[in-house]
Amino acid sequence: MSIMYSIIVPMFNEEEVIEHTYLRLKQVMDCTGENYEMILVNDGSRDRTAAIAGDISNRDSNVRVIDFSRNFGHQIAITAGMDHAKGHAIVVIDADLQDPPEVILDMISKWKEGYEVVYAKRLVRKGETLFKKITAKLFYRLLRKMTSVEIPLDTGDFRLIDRKVCDVLKGLKEKNRFVRGLVSWVGFRQTYVEYVREERFAGETKYPLRKMISFALDGITSFSYKPLKMASYLGFTLSISSFIYLFVVLFQKIFTSKTIAGWASVIGINLLFNGIVLMLLGVIGEYIGRIYDESKDRPLYIVSETKGYPETKEVQTT
Ligand code: UDP
Ligand code: MG
Repeated sequence: MSIMYSIIVPMFNEEEVIEHTYLRLKQVMDCTGENYEMILVNDGSRDRTAAIAGDISNRDSNVRVIDFSRNFGHQIAITAGMDHAKGHAIVVIDADLQDPPEVILDMISKWKEGYEVVYAKRLVRKGETLFKKITAKLFYRLLRKMTSVEIPLDTGDFRLIDRKVCDVLKGLKEKNRFVRGLVSWVGFRQTYVEYVREERFAGETKYPLRKMISFALDGITSFSYKPLKMASYLGFTLSISSFIYLFVVLFQKIFTSKTIAGWASVIGINLLFNGIVLMLLGVIGEYIGRIYDESKDRPLYIVSETKGYPETKEVQTT
Protein backbone atom coordinates (compact mmCIF):
# COMPACT_ATOMS: atom_id res chain seq x y z
CA MET A 1 0.00 0.00 0.00
CA SER A 2 1.47 3.34 -0.92
CA ILE A 3 2.15 5.88 1.79
CA MET A 4 0.13 9.09 1.74
CA TYR A 5 2.12 11.36 4.05
CA SER A 6 5.75 11.53 5.13
CA ILE A 7 6.48 13.68 8.16
CA ILE A 8 10.13 14.70 8.44
CA VAL A 9 11.39 15.69 11.89
CA PRO A 10 15.04 16.85 12.11
CA MET A 11 16.45 16.38 15.60
CA PHE A 12 19.64 17.53 17.24
CA ASN A 13 19.89 16.85 20.98
CA GLU A 14 16.13 16.82 21.43
CA GLU A 15 15.84 14.11 24.13
CA GLU A 16 13.49 16.29 26.17
CA VAL A 17 10.91 16.84 23.47
CA ILE A 18 10.96 13.85 21.18
CA GLU A 19 8.43 11.66 23.00
CA HIS A 20 5.90 14.50 23.27
CA THR A 21 6.43 15.54 19.70
CA TYR A 22 5.90 11.99 18.55
CA LEU A 23 2.64 11.68 20.49
CA ARG A 24 1.25 15.02 19.26
CA LEU A 25 2.18 14.20 15.68
CA LYS A 26 0.68 10.74 15.94
CA GLN A 27 -2.56 12.17 17.31
CA VAL A 28 -2.81 14.62 14.42
CA MET A 29 -1.85 12.15 11.72
CA ASP A 30 -4.28 9.53 13.03
CA CYS A 31 -7.04 12.12 12.47
CA THR A 32 -6.38 12.07 8.74
CA GLY A 33 -7.48 8.44 8.53
CA GLU A 34 -4.77 7.88 5.93
CA ASN A 35 -1.48 6.09 6.28
CA TYR A 36 1.73 7.93 6.93
CA GLU A 37 5.33 7.53 7.94
CA MET A 38 7.23 9.63 10.42
CA ILE A 39 10.90 10.07 9.60
CA LEU A 40 12.98 11.09 12.59
CA VAL A 41 16.33 12.34 11.34
CA ASN A 42 18.83 12.22 14.17
CA ASP A 43 21.43 14.79 13.19
CA GLY A 44 24.35 13.41 15.20
CA SER A 45 22.83 14.10 18.61
CA ARG A 46 25.09 13.67 21.59
CA ASP A 47 22.31 12.98 24.07
CA ARG A 48 19.73 10.17 24.24
CA THR A 49 17.85 11.24 21.11
CA ALA A 50 19.02 8.20 19.13
CA ALA A 51 18.01 5.73 21.81
CA ILE A 52 14.58 7.28 22.36
CA ALA A 53 13.90 7.53 18.63
CA GLY A 54 14.96 3.88 18.24
CA ASP A 55 12.51 2.87 20.97
CA ILE A 56 9.68 4.72 19.32
CA SER A 57 10.35 3.07 15.99
CA ASN A 58 10.36 -0.36 17.66
CA ARG A 59 6.94 0.41 19.11
CA ASP A 60 5.38 2.01 16.09
CA SER A 61 5.83 0.62 12.62
CA ASN A 62 5.01 4.04 11.08
CA VAL A 63 8.16 5.53 12.53
CA ARG A 64 11.55 5.41 10.85
CA VAL A 65 14.83 6.71 12.14
CA ILE A 66 17.79 7.92 10.14
CA ASP A 67 20.92 8.29 12.21
CA PHE A 68 23.68 10.52 10.85
CA SER A 69 27.28 9.66 11.60
CA ARG A 70 27.76 13.17 13.04
CA ASN A 71 26.05 16.57 13.12
CA PHE A 72 25.54 17.76 9.55
CA GLY A 73 23.09 20.57 10.26
CA HIS A 74 19.37 21.23 10.17
CA GLN A 75 19.11 21.84 6.42
CA ILE A 76 20.97 18.66 5.57
CA ALA A 77 18.80 16.67 7.98
CA ILE A 78 15.72 17.92 6.15
CA THR A 79 17.32 16.97 2.84
CA ALA A 80 18.01 13.43 4.08
CA GLY A 81 14.39 13.16 5.17
CA MET A 82 13.24 14.16 1.69
CA ASP A 83 15.61 11.67 0.09
CA HIS A 84 14.07 8.87 2.16
CA ALA A 85 10.42 9.99 2.07
CA LYS A 86 7.97 7.75 0.26
CA GLY A 87 4.75 9.74 0.75
CA HIS A 88 2.59 11.54 -1.82
CA ALA A 89 2.86 14.65 0.35
CA ILE A 90 5.85 15.45 2.52
CA VAL A 91 5.75 17.66 5.61
CA VAL A 92 8.79 19.12 7.35
CA ILE A 93 8.32 20.11 10.97
CA ASP A 94 10.64 21.12 13.82
CA ALA A 95 11.09 18.69 16.69
CA ASP A 96 10.49 21.21 19.45
CA LEU A 97 6.73 21.74 18.96
CA GLN A 98 7.27 25.38 18.00
CA ASP A 99 5.42 24.43 14.86
CA PRO A 100 2.04 23.12 16.10
CA PRO A 101 1.36 19.73 14.46
CA GLU A 102 -2.34 20.61 14.14
CA VAL A 103 -1.44 23.08 11.36
CA ILE A 104 -0.55 20.05 9.22
CA LEU A 105 -4.27 19.37 8.81
CA ASP A 106 -4.78 22.83 7.29
CA MET A 107 -1.83 22.20 5.00
CA ILE A 108 -3.29 18.90 3.90
CA SER A 109 -6.61 20.50 3.02
CA LYS A 110 -4.83 23.12 0.87
CA TRP A 111 -2.85 20.33 -0.77
CA LYS A 112 -6.10 18.54 -1.56
CA GLU A 113 -7.32 21.75 -3.21
CA GLY A 114 -4.44 21.29 -5.64
CA TYR A 115 -1.56 23.33 -4.23
CA GLU A 116 1.86 21.70 -4.49
CA VAL A 117 3.62 23.71 -1.82
CA VAL A 118 1.89 24.88 1.35
CA TYR A 119 4.19 26.84 3.61
CA ALA A 120 3.37 28.05 7.09
CA LYS A 121 3.69 31.75 7.76
CA ARG A 122 4.41 32.88 11.30
CA LEU A 123 2.00 35.52 12.53
CA VAL A 124 3.58 35.76 15.95
CA ARG A 125 6.68 34.19 17.43
CA LYS A 126 6.28 33.32 21.08
CA GLY A 127 8.95 32.71 23.65
CA GLU A 128 11.92 33.76 21.56
CA THR A 129 14.44 36.37 22.56
CA LEU A 130 14.05 39.90 21.29
CA PHE A 131 17.43 39.48 19.60
CA LYS A 132 16.21 36.42 17.67
CA LYS A 133 12.99 38.14 16.65
CA ILE A 134 14.74 41.28 15.43
CA THR A 135 17.53 39.47 13.58
CA ALA A 136 15.02 37.10 11.97
CA LYS A 137 12.80 40.00 10.84
CA LEU A 138 15.78 41.86 9.41
CA PHE A 139 17.17 38.76 7.75
CA TYR A 140 13.99 37.92 5.83
CA ARG A 141 13.65 41.51 4.67
CA LEU A 142 17.29 41.75 3.64
CA LEU A 143 16.99 38.47 1.80
CA ARG A 144 13.95 39.75 -0.06
CA LYS A 145 15.87 42.87 -1.14
CA MET A 146 18.87 40.86 -2.22
CA THR A 147 17.35 38.07 -4.29
CA SER A 148 15.25 37.86 -7.36
CA VAL A 149 13.56 34.69 -6.08
CA GLU A 150 10.34 35.36 -4.18
CA ILE A 151 11.20 33.89 -0.80
CA PRO A 152 8.20 34.47 1.46
CA LEU A 153 8.71 36.60 4.57
CA ASP A 154 8.66 35.09 8.07
CA THR A 155 8.46 31.54 6.86
CA GLY A 156 10.59 28.68 8.09
CA ASP A 157 10.92 25.15 6.86
CA PHE A 158 7.57 24.09 8.31
CA ARG A 159 5.72 23.24 5.12
CA LEU A 160 4.06 20.60 3.02
CA ILE A 161 5.35 19.74 -0.43
CA ASP A 162 3.93 17.48 -3.06
CA ARG A 163 5.83 14.40 -4.25
CA LYS A 164 6.57 16.20 -7.55
CA VAL A 165 8.28 19.07 -5.72
CA CYS A 166 10.19 16.65 -3.51
CA ASP A 167 11.52 14.82 -6.56
CA VAL A 168 12.74 18.08 -8.08
CA LEU A 169 14.41 19.10 -4.81
CA LYS A 170 16.14 15.74 -4.60
CA GLY A 171 17.80 16.58 -7.90
CA LEU A 172 19.28 19.81 -6.55
CA LYS A 173 22.48 18.64 -4.98
CA GLU A 174 24.04 21.91 -3.91
CA LYS A 175 26.02 21.58 -0.71
CA ASN A 176 25.31 24.74 1.27
CA ARG A 177 21.62 24.27 1.29
CA PHE A 178 19.00 26.84 2.10
CA VAL A 179 15.97 24.62 1.72
CA ARG A 180 13.25 27.25 2.05
CA GLY A 181 14.89 29.21 -0.76
CA LEU A 182 15.15 26.15 -2.97
CA VAL A 183 11.47 25.42 -2.46
CA SER A 184 10.62 28.94 -3.62
CA TRP A 185 13.02 28.66 -6.51
CA VAL A 186 11.40 25.53 -7.96
CA GLY A 187 8.05 27.27 -8.40
CA PHE A 188 4.84 25.19 -8.70
CA ARG A 189 1.51 26.27 -7.24
CA GLN A 190 2.30 27.63 -3.80
CA THR A 191 0.11 28.91 -1.03
CA TYR A 192 0.34 29.38 2.71
CA VAL A 193 -1.44 28.90 5.99
CA GLU A 194 -0.88 31.21 8.92
CA TYR A 195 0.03 30.10 12.40
CA VAL A 196 1.28 31.26 15.74
CA ARG A 197 4.77 29.99 16.48
CA GLU A 198 4.72 28.54 19.96
CA GLU A 199 7.40 28.49 22.56
CA ARG A 200 9.89 25.67 22.47
CA PHE A 201 8.35 22.80 24.40
CA ALA A 202 11.55 22.04 26.32
CA GLY A 203 15.28 22.35 25.93
CA GLU A 204 16.92 25.29 24.28
CA THR A 205 17.55 26.48 20.76
CA LYS A 206 19.96 24.42 18.67
CA TYR A 207 20.72 27.51 16.59
CA PRO A 208 23.43 29.47 18.38
CA LEU A 209 24.55 32.73 16.80
CA ARG A 210 27.31 30.96 14.89
CA LYS A 211 24.82 28.67 13.13
CA MET A 212 22.42 31.56 12.54
CA ILE A 213 25.13 33.55 10.77
CA SER A 214 26.25 30.70 8.57
CA PHE A 215 22.60 29.92 7.77
CA ALA A 216 21.99 33.55 6.80
CA LEU A 217 25.12 33.61 4.63
CA ASP A 218 24.02 30.41 2.89
CA GLY A 219 20.65 31.99 2.20
CA ILE A 220 22.13 35.13 0.72
CA THR A 221 25.00 33.62 -1.24
CA SER A 222 22.87 30.80 -2.67
CA PHE A 223 20.37 33.19 -4.13
CA SER A 224 22.16 36.43 -4.83
CA TYR A 225 25.29 37.97 -6.33
CA LYS A 226 24.40 41.31 -4.83
CA PRO A 227 27.18 41.30 -2.21
CA LEU A 228 29.68 40.92 -5.05
CA LYS A 229 28.03 43.69 -7.03
CA MET A 230 27.95 45.92 -4.00
CA ALA A 231 31.66 45.25 -3.54
CA SER A 232 32.43 46.49 -7.00
CA TYR A 233 30.14 49.52 -6.67
CA LEU A 234 31.80 50.43 -3.43
CA GLY A 235 35.25 49.98 -4.95
CA PHE A 236 34.25 52.18 -7.85
CA THR A 237 32.81 54.92 -5.65
CA LEU A 238 35.88 54.93 -3.45
CA SER A 239 38.22 55.14 -6.43
CA ILE A 240 36.34 58.11 -7.83
CA SER A 241 36.32 59.94 -4.52
CA SER A 242 40.00 59.21 -3.95
CA PHE A 243 40.76 60.60 -7.37
CA ILE A 244 38.86 63.79 -6.64
CA TYR A 245 40.60 64.11 -3.32
CA LEU A 246 43.95 63.72 -5.06
CA PHE A 247 43.15 66.79 -7.13
CA VAL A 248 42.25 68.74 -4.02
CA VAL A 249 45.56 67.79 -2.43
CA LEU A 250 47.53 68.67 -5.54
CA PHE A 251 45.72 71.97 -5.82
CA GLN A 252 46.53 72.86 -2.23
CA LYS A 253 50.15 71.88 -2.69
CA ILE A 254 50.70 73.89 -5.85
CA PHE A 255 48.47 76.94 -5.46
CA THR A 256 48.15 77.55 -1.74
CA SER A 257 50.61 78.02 1.04
CA LYS A 258 48.76 75.71 3.42
CA THR A 259 51.13 73.22 4.94
CA ILE A 260 49.56 69.83 5.21
CA ALA A 261 50.20 68.22 8.58
CA GLY A 262 48.38 65.14 7.54
CA TRP A 263 49.42 62.32 9.87
CA ALA A 264 45.99 61.69 11.32
CA SER A 265 44.26 61.81 7.96
CA VAL A 266 46.81 59.51 6.33
CA ILE A 267 46.49 56.93 9.06
CA GLY A 268 42.71 57.30 9.11
CA ILE A 269 42.30 56.83 5.41
CA ASN A 270 44.75 53.95 5.44
CA LEU A 271 42.91 52.07 8.14
CA LEU A 272 39.56 52.73 6.55
CA PHE A 273 40.64 51.54 3.14
CA ASN A 274 42.45 48.50 4.49
CA GLY A 275 39.36 47.56 6.43
CA ILE A 276 37.17 47.92 3.37
CA VAL A 277 39.55 45.89 1.21
CA LEU A 278 39.69 43.07 3.76
CA MET A 279 35.94 43.07 4.10
CA LEU A 280 35.49 42.82 0.35
CA LEU A 281 38.00 39.98 0.23
CA GLY A 282 35.86 38.28 2.84
CA VAL A 283 32.78 38.67 0.63
CA ILE A 284 34.63 37.12 -2.28
CA GLY A 285 35.92 34.42 0.07
CA GLU A 286 32.40 33.44 1.05
CA TYR A 287 31.61 32.70 -2.57
CA ILE A 288 34.91 30.98 -3.29
CA GLY A 289 34.51 28.75 -0.24
CA ARG A 290 31.17 27.64 -1.53
CA ILE A 291 32.56 26.96 -4.98
CA TYR A 292 35.24 24.88 -3.26
CA ASP A 293 32.59 22.89 -1.39
CA GLU A 294 30.80 22.16 -4.63
CA SER A 295 33.96 21.09 -6.41
CA LYS A 296 34.91 18.58 -3.71
CA ASP A 297 31.66 16.82 -4.40
CA ARG A 298 31.51 15.03 -1.09
CA PRO A 299 28.23 13.41 -0.07
CA LEU A 300 25.79 15.75 1.66
CA TYR A 301 25.52 13.46 4.66
CA ILE A 302 26.52 10.05 5.93
CA VAL A 303 23.93 7.72 7.39
CA SER A 304 25.28 5.42 10.07
CA GLU A 305 22.10 3.48 10.65
CA THR A 306 18.45 3.42 9.69
CA LYS A 307 15.70 1.90 11.80
CA GLY A 308 12.10 1.07 11.08
CA TYR A 309 12.73 0.02 7.50
CA PRO A 310 12.43 -3.64 6.52
CA GLU A 311 16.14 -3.82 5.68
CA THR A 312 17.89 -2.04 8.58
CA LYS A 313 21.49 -1.54 9.62
CA GLU A 314 22.82 -0.42 6.30
CA VAL A 315 25.55 2.12 5.84
CA GLN A 316 24.85 4.37 2.95
CA THR A 317 25.77 7.75 1.58
CA THR A 318 24.02 10.08 -0.72
N1 UDP B 1 18.37 20.93 14.23
C1 UDP B 1 19.08 19.95 13.57
N2 UDP B 1 20.44 20.09 13.44
C2 UDP B 1 21.12 21.17 13.92
C3 UDP B 1 20.37 22.21 14.56
C4 UDP B 1 18.99 22.05 14.69
O1 UDP B 1 18.52 18.95 13.12
O2 UDP B 1 22.33 21.23 13.78
C5 UDP B 1 16.90 20.77 14.37
C6 UDP B 1 16.37 20.93 15.78
O3 UDP B 1 16.44 19.70 16.49
C7 UDP B 1 14.95 21.38 15.54
C8 UDP B 1 15.07 22.20 14.27
O4 UDP B 1 16.30 21.83 13.67
O5 UDP B 1 14.08 20.31 15.26
C9 UDP B 1 15.06 23.69 14.56
O6 UDP B 1 16.02 24.00 15.54
P1 UDP B 1 15.70 24.95 16.77
O7 UDP B 1 14.31 24.72 17.23
O8 UDP B 1 16.76 24.76 17.80
O9 UDP B 1 15.86 26.37 16.11
P2 UDP B 1 15.01 27.68 16.43
O10 UDP B 1 13.58 27.27 16.46
O11 UDP B 1 15.49 28.15 17.75
O12 UDP B 1 15.34 28.60 15.31
MG1 MG C 1 12.77 25.83 17.57
